[in-house]
Amino acid sequence: MDKARIFHPDFKAQPWWWEAWTPNNALSVDPPAKTDVVIVGAGYGGLSTALELRRNGIDCVVLERGVFGIGASTRNGGMLSGGTNIAKGLGGKNPKVEAEFEANKAAFLGSGADSLQTLIDIIHREKIDCGLITNGRFTGAWTPKHYDDQARKVEMFNKYANVGAEMIPRERVREMMASDYYYGGMYVRAGGNLHPARYYKGLLEAAHNQGAVLCGEVEAERIEKTKDAKGGSGWRVLTAKGPITCKEVVIATNGYTGDLTPKLKMRVVPVASHIIATEELPMPATDLIPLQRSIGDTKRVLTYYRPSPDGKQMIFGGRARFTAAPPEVSAPILYQYMIDRFPQLKGIRITHVWTGNVAFALDSMSHMGQDDGMHYLLACNGSGVAMMTYLGTQTAKKIAGGSNAPVNAFDGRHFPEHPLYNGDPSLYLPLIGALYRTQDWLDRKLA
Ligand SMILES: Cc1cc2nc3c(=O)[nH]c(=O)nc-3n(C[C@H](O)[C@H](O)[C@H](O)COP(=O)(O)OP(=O)(O)OC[C@H]3O[C@@H](n4cnc5c(N)ncnc54)[C@H](O)[C@@H]3O)c2cc1C
Repeated sequence: MDKARIFHPDFKAQPWWWEAWTPNNALSVDPPAKTDVVIVGAGYGGLSTALELRRNGIDCVVLERGVFGIGASTRNGGMLSGGTNIAKGLGGKNPKVEAEFEANKAAFLGSGADSLQTLIDIIHREKIDCGLITNGRFTGAWTPKHYDDQARKVEMFNKYANVGAEMIPRERVREMMASDYYYGGMYVRAGGNLHPARYYKGLLEAAHNQGAVLCGEVEAERIEKTKDAKGGSGWRVLTAKGPITCKEVVIATNGYTGDLTPKLKMRVVPVASHIIATEELPMPATDLIPLQRSIGDTKRVLTYYRPSPDGKQMIFGGRARFTAAPPEVSAPILYQYMIDRFPQLKGIRITHVWTGNVAFALDSMSHMGQDDGMHYLLACNGSGVAMMTYLGTQTAKKIAGGSNAPVNAFDGRHFPEHPLYNGDPSLYLPLIGALYRTQDWLDRKLA
């Protein structure tokens, strides 16, 4: 491949989504000295917490250390699943979690399905113009064994999550995509996609309109417990713009969780994901992926792709590297992955390439709960558009309800750490990436 030729002359190393809405601090104000709830992190998780708190009449301040939208929430593929991605991720086989999942699958899959419905409800209620499409999602099987593994789950998904899952054998894959790359796969009706930055903008404006106080470029630097004269406890969040006293703190920092919360940092592994956007295709992208569906696959080094909302370009993502990588490294890898699936796109140029962090829990499950009294919603495991919106909404409802009882299957579960993980994955992630690439290659060789 001639690497130089794959880049369009107007190529940009930033999300294609930012052409429609660029992260900014237009709605930002200085933090007040006092509020009910301080939310750290202004992605989908933090903003949906704020929106729901305000709908319940609870004051809140959202702190974002960068500009609003700088995290993963304007960088993702915008692809939606009805919770069928649960328990799939970095953790690999984990017998304890599998047993827990088996015993509680109705609750886990039910909560997963609720996550998609919560997202759809918010988009409709707040009239967010984000090109929501609910035409389902196809997950291609990389090997016949993967196909059989998928087939074993169809009944469970339909029974507990009512997602309309069906197996698509190899000879029917062309109904899903103009490619023979996969050994069949699973189609799930309850899925789709949206424009992630336009969804973010809508959520930001909805939170603002409901009265949430939004403070951009204000980092939460330290969190201290406080006691008032009557013995009641609360919090003080220290920032460069002064301390904020509050009753509750919510941590919604996902793949950007840092030293502010050292215990939580040890429980989430930040992993980079990368995306390219192509120039306008010579054919409608819907010739390649009918009905603007979303596509993913069962590879360990997975890819995910979809047409742009106007159907003219291809948005193609994957774990080109597991850590941040410059465009000249990540773009050619993703380009090759795209051509492997759609040889008809050879010669098309890339206009944008970008990266962002997702967060994996060591049990590959999403988590919400309380640590030492502080609320958190963390670990999207690569699929957080619906899930982090849901966990934020649920965290706010829980705070408003004033009870500590779990409100869904992800709430209050054991949030594991590992004695060998110190919160810095930079040494071992490249090794995992290399191992996964080899295992993928071997799986297919032996298929
Ligand atoms: C390239 C890519 C592709 C993806 N594709 C998909 C997809 O197709 N479908 C899907 O469902 N999910 C996808 N995801 C995942 C999805 O984007 C995330 O799960 C979701 O955006 C997480 O939202 P969040 O609010 O939890 O975190 P984020 O949006 O990452 O926000 C966290 C924020 O916390 C801020 N922060 C951190 N520390 C502090 C501090 N001390 N003080 C103040 N602020 C702080 C950060 O600056 C950041 O803005 C993808 C992610 C990436 C990166």
